Amino acid sequence: MWDTIAAIGTGEALSAIGIIRMTGPEALTVVEAVFTEQSGRSVADFENRKLYYGTLCDREGAVLDRCLCFISRGPHSYTGEDTAELQCHGSPVVLRMALEAVFAAGARQAKAGEFTQRAFLNGRLDLTQAEAVIDLISAETAQAAKNAAGQLGRAVSGKTDQVYDGLRDLLAHFHAELDYPEEDIEPFHLAEYAAHLAAYIKTLQSLTDTFRRGQIMTQGVPAAILGRPNVGKSSLLNALLGYERAIVTEIPGTTRDTLEERITLGDTLLRLVDTAGLRETGDPVEQLGVARAVDAAAEAELILAVFDGTAPLTEEDQAVIQAVTQAPQAIAVINKADLPQQIDLADLRPHFDRIIPLSAKTGAGLDALEGAISQIYTGAPPIPPGQILTNARHVDTVSRALQHMHSAQEAMAQGITPDAVLTEIEAAMAALGELTGRTIREDVVTRIFERFCVGK
Ligand code: GDP
Repeated sequence: MWDTIAAIGTGEALSAIGIIRMTGPEALTVVEAVFTEQSGRSVADFENRKLYYGTLCDREGAVLDRCLCFISRGPHSYTGEDTAELQCHGSPVVLRMALEAVFAAGARQAKAGEFTQRAFLNGRLDLTQAEAVIDLISAETAQAAKNAAGQLGRAVSGKTDQVYDGLRDLLAHFHAELDYPEEDIEPFHLAEYAAHLAAYIKTLQSLTDTFRRGQIMTQGVPAAILGRPNVGKSSLLNALLGYERAIVTEIPGTTRDTLEERITLGDTLLRLVDTAGLRETGDPVEQLGVARAVDAAAEAELILAVFDGTAPLTEEDQAVIQAVTQAPQAIAVINKADLPQQIDLADLRPHFDRIIPLSAKTGAGLDALEGAISQIYTGAPPIPPGQILTNARHVDTVSRALQHMHSAQEAMAQGITPDAVLTEIEAAMAALGELTGRTIREDVVTRIFERFCVGK
């Protein structure tokens, strides 16, 4: 049995309401000590998940706030234990005093992620659902949020559980075969097992195939602006920063004074490495400029290759074109469209699928650039929300399961004794069990919940 924990569940900022939440065996007793319902009803008589109005007092009886209270008795609550919430006015001062009162009544400060950890340990959520909670809270784009919401609804574990159950059936069949070793496995049985195994492999493989897309969705597209001096790279970066419609989150290490800018264009998050900035470090060998930028761009998933529309292509432009051929995705940006054009686009067409004329100065054409980027990253065939893997731990466990399933497949094909197949299938099930938390070491669980915020 655990103790009773409490935390402020809402942010630190001033807001209309702020919520204190608590969970544990003493949650109702604690709330009874601090909250007085207006008609004098005892908390023990409250119905589950119904709001009650009353006063919140400190241990001396001084009124701290007039607020709403609701309780949810275990096991049908978020954590599976008795839980209570006090919905106060959203003043950080009031909330801090209210929390102190709750501590004085017997609760202790909850650690990061402790509520959701209890939900997991009490079987209310599997591990992928618990991880989706934090992914949902920290999502930076609408698409990432929708995907996390899908995972909260077991979009990933629903699929892997089907495979897990199928493997368990396969295991049962092979055990039966082991019990009668004098009888060989009939060929039609073996063919049936192999077909099932192949179908499970396909299901898991299609899941791991989504990871690259998932990373782009949650981490952003590593992108770089490349071009010879004076084509307007810095102007383009500034224009994009000015044009950006979505909120830019300030994440430590990626704030504007670093070389990486985070820009959301439409629903695509770009992590733009400012290669123009790199070149301005005072490197004495100016010819190395493009080469250094090319190195920086080598890691990029998307390159915006900028050319000056007012001049024919130069040798340096050719070097840029060469560098771009390595990139998974590239867009040619023909800048300075507001001036008379001299560039011959026929020279670029063999190298670029997408050529966008624009003016970083006037902003004309930026929407076409946004459209082209969205088409690359959000125009791919839709995957139901939640079925895009975004978490490296999930990919690792599913990949390990797949390796063992491939080995089991080989063992079957080679007609090796059933126990070789059994060993591999058991190992695959263990890996899938780690994914949902059925079989997982305690220290791994602790590490997962350390990512959470306090109060969740
Ligand atoms: P970078 O060296 O590639 O980063 O180029 P800059 O952004 O510093 O721009 C070089 C010059 O071109 C500056 O004088 C800019 O004002 C000018 N410039 C950049 N974009 C445009 C544009 O779209 N139209 C016009 N007319 N001038 C531009």
